[in-house]
Amino acid sequence: MKTVNHESSRPYQPTHWDPIDKSALERAAANATDYELSCREFTWELARSSLAGLPGGGLNIAYEAVDQHLGTPLENAPALRWLAVTGGDTTLTYADLATLSNRFANVLRGLGVRRGDRVCLLLGRTPELYIAALGAWKAGCVVSPLFSAFGPEPVRQRLELSGATTLITSSDLYRRRVASNRSALPALRHVVLTDAGIDDDPIDDTVGLTLAMAIADDEFPIVRTGPEDPALLHFTSGTTGRPKGAVHVHGAVLAHRITAHYALDLRPGDVFWCTADPGWVTGMSYGVIAPLCLGVTVISDEAEFDAQRWYDILTAERVSVWYTAPTALRMLMRRGDELPAGTDLSCLRFVASVGEPLNPEAVVWGDRVLGHPVHDNWWQTETGAIMIANLAAEQIRPGSMGRPLPGIEAAILRRGPDGRAVIADGDVEHAGVDEVGELAVRVGWPSMFRGYWHESERYARAFAAGWYLSGDLARRDPDGYYWFVGRADDVIKSAGHLIGPFEVESALMAHPAVAEAGVIGAPDPVAGERVKAFVLLRPGFEPSEELHDDLIAFGRRQLGVVAPKEIVFADSLPHTRSGKVMRRLLKARDLGLPEGDVSTLEGVS
Ligand code: ATP
Ligand code: MG
Repeated sequence: MKTVNHESSRPYQPTHWDPIDKSALERAAANATDYELSCREFTWELARSSLAGLPGGGLNIAYEAVDQHLGTPLENAPALRWLAVTGGDTTLTYADLATLSNRFANVLRGLGVRRGDRVCLLLGRTPELYIAALGAWKAGCVVSPLFSAFGPEPVRQRLELSGATTLITSSDLYRRRVASNRSALPALRHVVLTDAGIDDDPIDDTVGLTLAMAIADDEFPIVRTGPEDPALLHFTSGTTGRPKGAVHVHGAVLAHRITAHYALDLRPGDVFWCTADPGWVTGMSYGVIAPLCLGVTVISDEAEFDAQRWYDILTAERVSVWYTAPTALRMLMRRGDELPAGTDLSCLRFVASVGEPLNPEAVVWGDRVLGHPVHDNWWQTETGAIMIANLAAEQIRPGSMGRPLPGIEAAILRRGPDGRAVIADGDVEHAGVDEVGELAVRVGWPSMFRGYWHESERYARAFAAGWYLSGDLARRDPDGYYWFVGRADDVIKSAGHLIGPFEVESALMAHPAVAEAGVIGAPDPVAGERVKAFVLLRPGFEPSEELHDDLIAFGRRQLGVVAPKEIVFADSLPHTRSGKVMRRLLKARDLGLPEGDVSTLEGVS
């Protein structure tokens, strides 16, 4: 037997949360009613037949998402229901999206934008965002979405890194976020302003979209892209450092489509609301591409989070499948168990979450308050699509990310003292049941990223012996369910124990006073690191010494030796722009780094 210095220093402690079973009726109605069978029978080769493909050969995401539905009963079905922040709404059918994206592709062509050019989208959630993405794919361009709340510096960095020739944005965003840096971006030849009206005074060096669209042709021959042609350049969230640009190809659309069927249980006739902004991979893969491919109606809300507004949308739009994030759920949970008067969730069938660990408390809150448990799933910008999920037909284990989807081979790999996967005889070494290791995915799924933009060495380092190494630590229970432990960079090593911050945060969140918690390892001369928690209280609770002691005791009862030794009441927790708790920022603050240093970190909201 090989002796390796691996990381499982603490026995696995099963969670005290009971699994949630579905009724026989619910199971029978779900997609993938037999998980084992689906896994056994699935091959990507067979799944490929679900794609339409470009007439005459080739593959293009825009055709799969929109044009393939022309001439079918879906042609005049609502593809996009857009809800304006001012209260109005707009419905675009599949036929509308096809024509408008054709016109947009003609606008790009008219400007001289070429196949392979990077087209950055810096837009709020407006119909133009969808039209521009689809039109750019039709023109063979690489779409790079930029989150519209980024300040000028993150925008400049991403425009520079991507070498974008074209930026699609609004007049206001252009003036506030781009104009002052324009001269420092020589590659950026075209700036198209979506809201510049025909009679508006033009802004220097920009093109108004209204006039350009009005005179553009309704027909556009889609550029014959192939499955390996780049389609997307997605920047990661920047939770652990400088964001990386992950390159995805048109062939990824197969994974978008299939995973939405399995993990989000999408079916014909669904009204689907993915609350993630299309500036992030979730909002693009599942807020645009996957649901359109499956012919469902996409809800897009221009406004920011507001609990009342969200319940109103779920009610009025008769949302059947809802894909959201732990932060949003925690914000809703802060309001308690009472739904606002007039809320009617009778159309809701399935609720899912991604992006951060989903505390078990949130899963059962969903079951109790929304009438549906929240189905956690796991993936990354790099994986392009959902890899591990709690499926509709399966039991949910609160706190677990679920099991690998059909077609996805996942594993927990042992890591050596250098933090790299242990390779022996040219192969990786798998961790045992419930042993903590690095979560890895076997190379070969269609939406695997094909590179970090301009960082080929970094890309090569992300793989070992045919596996993609995620940088997340997790464990797998005897039934094959995966449990998130932490990002390799966030994991706390205290007095010989390996502690995942998520486990401690979840335990604290079970206390009635705690709305959210962020846990880090603070330097400790004896233990190496000591567990330190920052907690945000629910409305109605005030910081006090008594509450502090109560939380320490509560933590000790729940967690034993890995309980936090120190608890700090915080007014707010730092989040990335995409809503994730930024433990590295908590850590930086804890170390007393000047605010100046801290606020220059990427993605801080
Ligand atoms: P960066 O790579 O720039 O640090 P990031 O990793 O946050 O940022 P994303 O690709 O948006 O960028 O996020 C993927 C990560 O989010 C995963 O690697 C994991 O750490 C976390 N994550 C996503 N889903 C889950 C989940 N269901 N449970 C736990 N963690 C999750
Ligand atoms: Mg990452």
